[in-house]
Amino acid sequence: MKAFDVNVWMRPNIRAMQPYSSARDEFHGSASVFLDANENPYNAPYNRYPDPMQWRLKERISEIKGVPVESIFLGNGSDEPIDLLLRAFCEPGKEKMLTTDPTYGMYQVAAEVNNVACVKVPLREDFSLDLPALLARIDDATKLIYLCSPNNPTGNSLGHDVIREVLRRFRGIVVVDEAYIDFSAGPSFLRELSEWPNLVVLQTLSKAWGCAAIRLGMAFASPEIIGVLNKIKYPYNVNLLTQEKALELLDEDRMRTQLAQILQERTRLCRDLSAIPLVRRIYPTDANFLLVDVGDADGVYHKLVEEGIIVRNRNRVTLCRGCLRITVGTPEEDDRLLEALKNM
Ligand code: PMP
Repeated sequence: MKAFDVNVWMRPNIRAMQPYSSARDEFHGSASVFLDANENPYNAPYNRYPDPMQWRLKERISEIKGVPVESIFLGNGSDEPIDLLLRAFCEPGKEKMLTTDPTYGMYQVAAEVNNVACVKVPLREDFSLDLPALLARIDDATKLIYLCSPNNPTGNSLGHDVIREVLRRFRGIVVVDEAYIDFSAGPSFLRELSEWPNLVVLQTLSKAWGCAAIRLGMAFASPEIIGVLNKIKYPYNVNLLTQEKALELLDEDRMRTQLAQILQERTRLCRDLSAIPLVRRIYPTDANFLLVDVGDADGVYHKLVEEGIIVRNRNRVTLCRGCLRITVGTPEEDDRLLEALKNM
């Protein structure tokens, strides 16, 4: 296994600081009178602060994912660990992160909020990762690489071998955002978590699990990296309602049934879209959306809006000129989209 010392990569101020210790952090065990957290004694159960470390929920996620609880961080969506990783590892105004172009927009937004330079390495025309170009942009100030696979908005997976090569060649942290992994036939990097001490895998309940509203994101990594995220997170970053609802909704049978429906509908939508004259090209996808070249993307987008149908216009995104990103909906929703496109 390759050597990686998290202390060397952490920002010095984060290494040196003492984390906030909440009342619920300081006392562990059973008791019947809680007078330690300045809570209102009435209005149970909402009067009490939630478990700051979400242990019950982590145990359930650990069972589902086959990852030990010490290797799991839970956040307010995966957007939270995306931001926390930048705050922990990149010195504002000095250090940088790398990502691809195009990709999920929050990496750059989070970098800019933190005054961390975001270097964007263009994907190749076929949306594959340009490994030599990526490696050429790494220098001493590069602390993090964000790779999204399957990638948003292009839909393709970047490829296991090429990501392994990045993990091998870059000594800092490589974040693989697997928000859409359940829709892909390819393997998750979770299986290789113990092999790569510099790997962080992000997943979310917002996509295949159908729980975007409750905001629960997951980061998986070595206990050392997870420890850094825990050190700097807000004490009660996942509220009680989310912890309880997530436990209820982590029903694998429901998820698998809905996933199968979405995958079947993805095939149907792709087939029916390809028969519509204004559709020039549908890119292959490993996600629950299709990137579709319609030529006049702005015009088609606005006509769909007039019909009350909202898709994502990606016309101004690198390599996506003329493209709309269309999420797979229910058969009825997709029929409305298809009808509207046929009538244009
Ligand atoms: N990663 C990717 C690639 C996404 O597309 C999205 C949401 N669109 C997210 C992360 C954010 O997920 P969450 O809802 O967990 O914050």
